[in-house]
Amino acid sequence: MKFSQMQYQRPDMNYVTTHLKEVKQRVENASSGQELVDIIKDYKNNFDKDIQTMSSLAHVRYTINTKDEFYDKENEFWDENLPIIETLSIDVSRAIYTSKFRKELIDAFGEFYIKLLECELVLDDRAVPFMQKENELITKYSKIIANSKIKFRGKTYTYSQMTPLLQNTDREFRKEAFEARNKFFEDHEEEFDQIYDEMVHLRHDMAKALGYDNYMSLRYKLLKRVDYNHEDVAKYREKILKVFSPLAINLRKKQAEKLGIEDFKFYDRALDFKDGNSTPDGDYNFIVSNAQKMYRELSKETGEFFDFMVENELMDLLAKEGKRAGGYCTSFDKYKAPFIFSNFNGTNGDIDVITHEAGHAFQNYMSQDMILPDFIWPTYESCEIHSMSMEFLTWPWMNLFFGKNEDKFKYSALKGAISFLPYGVTVDHFQQFVYENPDATPQQRKEKYRELELMYQSDLDYDNEFLSKGTYWYCQPHIFHDPFYYIDYTLAQVCAFQYLIKYLNDKDKTLQDYITLCKAGGSASFFKLLEIGKLENPMTTDVLEKIAPQLETLLDEISERIK
Ligand code: ZN
Repeated sequence: MKFSQMQYQRPDMNYVTTHLKEVKQRVENASSGQELVDIIKDYKNNFDKDIQTMSSLAHVRYTINTKDEFYDKENEFWDENLPIIETLSIDVSRAIYTSKFRKELIDAFGEFYIKLLECELVLDDRAVPFMQKENELITKYSKIIANSKIKFRGKTYTYSQMTPLLQNTDREFRKEAFEARNKFFEDHEEEFDQIYDEMVHLRHDMAKALGYDNYMSLRYKLLKRVDYNHEDVAKYREKILKVFSPLAINLRKKQAEKLGIEDFKFYDRALDFKDGNSTPDGDYNFIVSNAQKMYRELSKETGEFFDFMVENELMDLLAKEGKRAGGYCTSFDKYKAPFIFSNFNGTNGDIDVITHEAGHAFQNYMSQDMILPDFIWPTYESCEIHSMSMEFLTWPWMNLFFGKNEDKFKYSALKGAISFLPYGVTVDHFQQFVYENPDATPQQRKEKYRELELMYQSDLDYDNEFLSKGTYWYCQPHIFHDPFYYIDYTLAQVCAFQYLIKYLNDKDKTLQDYITLCKAGGSASFFKLLEIGKLENPMTTDVLEKIAPQLETLLDEISERIK
């Protein structure tokens, strides 16, 4: 089924409500364990997948063109009704959870299924009005970013289109572009503060209404984090501060020397080479056809997967006016089809899309035959392992995209990934403060952000008054859309580094471990999936200390080859 042929139909809420109540009754009246298992399989694999697919289609088509009136309305419909559907589904889950056929459930779906149910049950219909309002606020934030019009040197750009400008080899140009970007956020300072302040209070009130001390404890459950808590995360952040912050600072020192800049500023960070960063040697068609060649050569599984994506139009990659910023991967489970969304802008980022988002899509594709859709996607930290590792597993083919500049690309990718860790934990640390102190004022939040960013990146110099107030996070959509979903990237990055190091020594074995992990999808928790994928746990082992020097050596080797 091609994307353009997938029929969207808004579900009839009367039918949805009646149907879900009926399913709940059937679950409660099941007379045997087998009957219950069959009811669950039927409901999840038919009704649930239909709803998921319609909501996903509406979301994708809306984000492709936020000015499309039809899908704008549909987006509003889902903002309002998805929370209702979710809570009705949770009623079904509650009936399943309290069923007397627990043993048969575990035999059919595993222990982990029960843990997933427990996480789901934290929500009930008291949460609906909060979630509806939350969706509204998220859409409000996204619209400001999607409709950004940034004037720079006589032209107008969206926020996404600014990225390549910030890598310009002319320092004055970079600085000016950076200031134009900042001006956009400064012009909307009050709005961002207001939206976020409302979000924080709303989320806090929702947590309270559901019996939690604060939103963080509720959110950890909602994120289905079953094997670690916020204290484990705090300890892990300390390790990053100890091991990776100094490494990242050291890399920037080397970068400044290479560029011949004495007073190294934030707007110099994106430029790795005096004569310019690597950029892909071609445009959209060039990238997609080379990616197809690459995935066919990488493995039988990846080849089949990528051909499927191309044949069925499951990628919308070009930047357009009105299109939402950033990139993501989602799926239409009814059609067993993943989907990739992004905004190509002519930088290395375009290749990251074809590897990172394709890594997510590949895992989704490999997990489509799970007994229940609940096991298709794992939790976010695990999801990001698939994507971030794919960025490295495709390294042997980077010459296809960059020709003689392939090492420049690898250098920027690896340096970027290392430098990302201190920033990633800053975003998490900040959110812990925000939700533990829901009554902090916007001003206090900014001060805290400033304090934290300087703690993790002591060499940070924006050379900009507005950002130095602690406002950089306005551009970080996760802080608004997906609270506490960010530490996940850093955990996954540490896992991807492990695969990279192993891959350079033993390609086939590492690739097999990776594919095994992808096939396991969301059938287990993060810690368990690490075992399945033969990865060391970033929170409970000393893997950070172990890999940091290896990464530095690898980066030096790549750097040597460029000279
Ligand atoms: Zn991702």
